Amino acid sequence: MKLQEIFDTYKEYIMPTYTKTPLVFVKGKGSKLWDIQNKEYLDFFPGWGVGSLGHCHPKVMSAIRDQVSKLIFIPNNYYHPQQAHLAKELNFWAFPCKVFFCNSGAEANEGAIKFSRKYGQGRYEIITFENSFHGRTLAALAATGQKKYQAGFEPIPEGFKTVKFNDLAAVKGALSAKTVAVMLELVQGEGGINIAEKEFVLALRKLCDEKNLLLIVDEVQTGIGRTGKMFCYQNYGIIPDVVTLAKALGGGVPIGMMLVKKQIADTLGPGMHASTFGGSPLVCKAALAVLRSIQKEKLLQNTLEMGEYLKEKLLSLQKNCSGIKEIRGMGLMWGMELNKPGKAIVEYCMNKGLLINCTHDTVLRLMPALNITRKEINKAMKILENALKEVK
Ligand SMILES: *Cc1c(COP(=O)(O)O)cnc(C)c1O
Repeated sequence: MKLQEIFDTYKEYIMPTYTKTPLVFVKGKGSKLWDIQNKEYLDFFPGWGVGSLGHCHPKVMSAIRDQVSKLIFIPNNYYHPQQAHLAKELNFWAFPCKVFFCNSGAEANEGAIKFSRKYGQGRYEIITFENSFHGRTLAALAATGQKKYQAGFEPIPEGFKTVKFNDLAAVKGALSAKTVAVMLELVQGEGGINIAEKEFVLALRKLCDEKNLLLIVDEVQTGIGRTGKMFCYQNYGIIPDVVTLAKALGGGVPIGMMLVKKQIADTLGPGMHASTFGGSPLVCKAALAVLRSIQKEKLLQNTLEMGEYLKEKLLSLQKNCSGIKEIRGMGLMWGMELNKPGKAIVEYCMNKGLLINCTHDTVLRLMPALNITRKEINKAMKILENALKEVK
């Protein structure tokens, strides 16, 4: 199909649920992407957080190829070795836990919500935060503290209270005899790169312990190395009760996971929750390759070093260009808040061959692959600088 035919076919046959950028990609390697006309792009937002190893990482590709030739799928009423390997590996990186396999971030969060309700034995209310994002299925949407995503889909499932982020008094004010959990992202991604304060998180942990509440950390975007630790909660010195994962975990294949503290994990027993495709040999094999590559290639270290380098570059842009309100971030997850909408800047960068994102209308979001290099950062920053100076 030629370019225009592809656009026309989408218009005719694919539901228009996404705001589309008119680019057709056919190939990717590392932080580079090529479109159908063979124009090259530098990808500073690979796969909305999925592409933490860049596109088509060789170890992930060979793991997938190897598994495809042996066994692609086996249902969850049987055993296969890859789930065992992956669950064990996550116990090494996280905390003593048992895991549930699913296919996406929303599904992992649905699992966490169902887990909480079962755990609560009648307590069911979950406290979540303004500007959070937990996914598009109905309960995940109810947990998401942004009205714009809920509008038109009422009735929204009950049992969620949304309070101000980083506000312990607001959390305490929302507690009731029915409260069972507090659920948050430690760095709100979709909501504009808002970082949870350390004292707040420590106090939340303490509060949850005192009141027998589950602390659920949504690491769908922050997990798997993005903030310079395997999991973002490790920057805070706390251990959550439940962690949800997806995006970067599979290196591009769809996998979601819920990690639950071992002592309470058997709350869900046979027949209580399920996902047909969850944790197939194919996706587990890919995830294992992702985790091993992060370790072998010292990508947590690279994330910290390149994150620091990117931060300096962004701060110097803030000094030299007008209209930048704030630079916020951690590891390789950065937001640049402008005092105007960022759409035109994203478009300028795209035309110059740099892909970035704008979220929450005014926040430019940069989340390059964890194996990004200084040279690639320099190239991206040059384009961004021109954009900031030239776009009125
Ligand atoms: C993307 C995202 C989700 C939803 O993940 P899907 O795989 O799109 O369902 C949930 N939580 C956070 C923090 C996310 O960034």
